[in-house]
Amino acid sequence: MTKVTRYAGLLERELPAILAMAERSVNLDSGSYLASGVNAVIDIWGGMLRGLGFAVERTPLPGFGDQMTARLALGGSGKRLLVLGHADTVWPAGVAAEWPFARDGDRITGPGVGDMKTNVVMALHALKVLLAEGALGGLASVTVLIVPDEEIGSPGSRAWIEAEAMQADLCLTLEPCRPNGGIVIGRGAVGAVYIAATGVTAHCGSALEKGASAVRALAALVGPLEALGDPPNGLSATVGIFKGGEARQVVPGSAEIHLDLRAPDDAAGETLLAAVRRVVETTPRDPRVTVGLRGGFTRPAFPTHAGTEALFALAQEFGATLGAPVFALVSRGGSDGSFAARLGVPTLDGLGPITHETCSRREHVEVSSIVPRGTILAGLMAAAAAGRITR
Ligand SMILES: [Zn+2]
Repeated sequence: MTKVTRYAGLLERELPAILAMAERSVNLDSGSYLASGVNAVIDIWGGMLRGLGFAVERTPLPGFGDQMTARLALGGSGKRLLVLGHADTVWPAGVAAEWPFARDGDRITGPGVGDMKTNVVMALHALKVLLAEGALGGLASVTVLIVPDEEIGSPGSRAWIEAEAMQADLCLTLEPCRPNGGIVIGRGAVGAVYIAATGVTAHCGSALEKGASAVRALAALVGPLEALGDPPNGLSATVGIFKGGEARQVVPGSAEIHLDLRAPDDAAGETLLAAVRRVVETTPRDPRVTVGLRGGFTRPAFPTHAGTEALFALAQEFGATLGAPVFALVSRGGSDGSFAARLGVPTLDGLGPITHETCSRREHVEVSSIVPRGTILAGLMAAAAAGRITR
């Protein structure tokens, strides 16, 4: 029996505990702006990490939940392993009550079930199995970071994640595995741009000519901005939010666009951002309307380097042993793994269980994928401890 087969058997015994802890975690509302909910999730996970011998530190992030750093010094002379997870979801307060954790055959569902509550719980149990087996002794340390603001781009956590990544030799990120086994070896850059217009309000009946419409000024930008995209080449500019106006009979004095940007690499992202600025500056409008732009690329691209390819090859080897499909994927979405990869740290992402329709009300995890995916993760950690990762 290979070691990975043994880990699979041990994780199978943990599956009821994994499902029970996933259920408790999913049933707590923990949208990025729900600090107390995020902290309640961290209480559960931090408690388990403490039980495994980790030193757990929590740093409050104003307006959000805590940043949790859990560290275990193993005394080996080998690699320093960084595991990245997040406790927040995209869902507002009240969603867990109307859409609680539920299991239907091979599916579990609920807010954040696969992005990424089950994933973190799976990883904690993989660590439990490996520590009980004495399989991590060759590592210098394991650090688990639980981020409270990932779903809004980790604006308050980026510096902390980068500081930890600089101290790490490899990074494993727990975003969901794609249907059919896709593991992420690279990501594009992601940007968020906010464009706000201020016009002049006036009554549409008695003083129309005194008004200058902020909505009209921004509406003229939507077509040209979206035309900057080139989706087959991984470039897009999408107006996700358009707001404006105060009353039907009033010329709108304010309007706002939230623009999502995607680019295959950082240089293409800078070019796209410059083009966005040009559209905003050069599109003709009533001179009484002022338009401001803020934001930019919040997630750098995650380049695929040799260290990441070596990690992927190991994941494929373990997948083959388990009969679990593994293929490489370059995603257009961002994640915290991008911060580590950009610093040159070998990084693999998409190491959670197989998840369908992520961030929709149909999000669900394949229960039968939890043990094989947890085993691939365990195999990577054990391989790092055994010195099989040389980069
Ligand atoms: Zn996520």
